[in-house]
Amino acid sequence: MEEQTRTKTRRLYMLQEDVYTPVVGEEKRYWFKKAIDHLKLEVSINRYLEANGILVRRGRARCAIHGGSNPEAFIILDSGRKFFCHSCQAKGDIIDLACALESHENTWTAVVSLAQNFGVELPSPTKSEGWTSWQKKKAVIRDSALEALARSYQRRYFRVFGGALLEGIGDQLEREEEGRKLFKDLEKTARIAATNRMARNG
Ligand SMILES: [Zn+2]
Repeated sequence: MEEQTRTKTRRLYMLQEDVYTPVVGEEKRYWFKKAIDHLKLEVSINRYLEANGILVRRGRARCAIHGGSNPEAFIILDSGRKFFCHSCQAKGDIIDLACALESHENTWTAVVSLAQNFGVELPSPTKSEGWTSWQKKKAVIRDSALEALARSYQRRYFRVFGGALLEGIGDQLEREEEGRKLFKDLEKTARIAATNRMARNG
């Protein structure tokens, strides 16, 4: 039974390692950030200190980072989201605190450790559609940005080329008709230019 639990925990750990190691890929970074935001909400600094046997009184405690005994040195701010030590000047959030006290070399191991020690279920691609909907939202934003950029190129090209091409046409109706055609013809070029520009800007 114990062996089984251990195996399960290990598998969970490996799964989390895979998802939360922010090595490469936008998706991993996305989940990593989500996990950190979630932990900050779930595990307050007060809760963390008390779980580690450090007494918190009126938002103050002794600083376990520099190992001091002054019970007022370590100040908890922002409803338990931030800390600051008057003695050693250490400051940060719950992740920074866990990194300092548990000697994590990487942020992600601190994230996994906090999640396991405090029973926090971290958001992950299998548990929600967050990633997908975020991608969709981003695609919509990208599309409308591309649309606006393409339109502005189209108008600029029309201003640049339109005058010279259309001024020779004496008949006003014909000129307007040619103008509309030219504007339409410039759409494709403008779209290509806008796409290239967006690709350059990432
Ligand atoms: Zn300190």
